[in-house]
Amino acid sequence: MEELLVPKSIQFETKSLSGLSNLKGNKAIIVTDQGVMEELGFLDQAISYLKNSNLETKVIDGVEPNPSVKTVMKGKEKMLDFNPDWIIGLGGGSTLDAAKMMWAFYEHPELNFEEVIEVNSLPKLRNKAKFAAVPSTSGTGSEMTAFAVITDAKEKIKYPIVSPELIPDIAIIDPKLPATMPKQITANTGMDVLTHAIEAFVSTNATDYTDPLALKAIKLVFKYLRTAYKKGDDIKARTKMHNASAIAGIAFSNASLGIVHSLAHKIGGELDITHGLANAILLPYVIDFNYETAEEKYKTIKHITGEQNLSEAIKELNEDLNIPSCFKKLDDINENEFKKILDRMSENALQDACTLTNPKEPNVTDMKEIYKQAFYGK
Ligand SMILES: [Zn+2]
Repeated sequence: MEELLVPKSIQFETKSLSGLSNLKGNKAIIVTDQGVMEELGFLDQAISYLKNSNLETKVIDGVEPNPSVKTVMKGKEKMLDFNPDWIIGLGGGSTLDAAKMMWAFYEHPELNFEEVIEVNSLPKLRNKAKFAAVPSTSGTGSEMTAFAVITDAKEKIKYPIVSPELIPDIAIIDPKLPATMPKQITANTGMDVLTHAIEAFVSTNATDYTDPLALKAIKLVFKYLRTAYKKGDDIKARTKMHNASAIAGIAFSNASLGIVHSLAHKIGGELDITHGLANAILLPYVIDFNYETAEEKYKTIKHITGEQNLSEAIKELNEDLNIPSCFKKLDDINENEFKKILDRMSENALQDACTLTNPKEPNVTDMKEIYKQAFYGK
């Protein structure tokens, strides 16, 4: 049996943040970042909307990028003290992911982190609270997905927690929030959206229900990412990119991803390269590797974008976004370090869960070859 899982309510376009004033309950807790949402005034806006719906509100702030198990457990304790019936995640992908897991452990305080790592091992949520996600970046799609990525700080390992229980009840896709993203974050997160959409479209788990979503997201990125990057205050481009991120989120949460993500997860961790940036550089090389196996699907993408050569078109898009064509051109990249870790990293990338749904089944030599191409450029 196939199934498409999405949030119960998706509220979008300008003023959708005011959707918070329609929540029904007694107490809400807002989980947010290390001061960005507060500085931009969005935290105060969220609080006042919640006041309109007569919810007593508390804030958990300070969620760091790549949130740790410790942050999650601290948040759980605060939730247990306050006893909210709404959890509001307000911030980028990291903040939303941390909020999801604080919620999970608030619902089940007896569990420890090791017990939820296995896919689909989370017990039922929503016995105490529901979850609303308000993303401030147009990238991870966490507001739509069944995933939360948490880092074990001691082991330096990122654990993707996967469960349909983690799909938010309400997603609020208000473009005013990402309109404040700095230029290079707009570029990197936008290329993450494109990678989600393309990998979901060519995934071996793609369905008739995810394909049109993936295609729409691809089309929106090609049409609006350059403008969102060059003219950050263009609210139409920001709206389209924020929608594209969420739509791609539904597609990949249901269809899964491919080896761009497998390779990006590992090189990102080893050489400290931002997720979206690693994807952007790897994407054209992986398309060349997969092309013949998924030719019909890539032809459809070419058709809807009007591009003749997809990997070349993505390289041009990267260039316009000031993203280098290969890893070697990044600042602070150490070639000797890359050579040293290449074998281990290729093995680890092959073992990544995203490899399972890549259209062409790679072996370790393939992974190594793609890493080399993307490192030196070809
Ligand atoms: Zn991604």
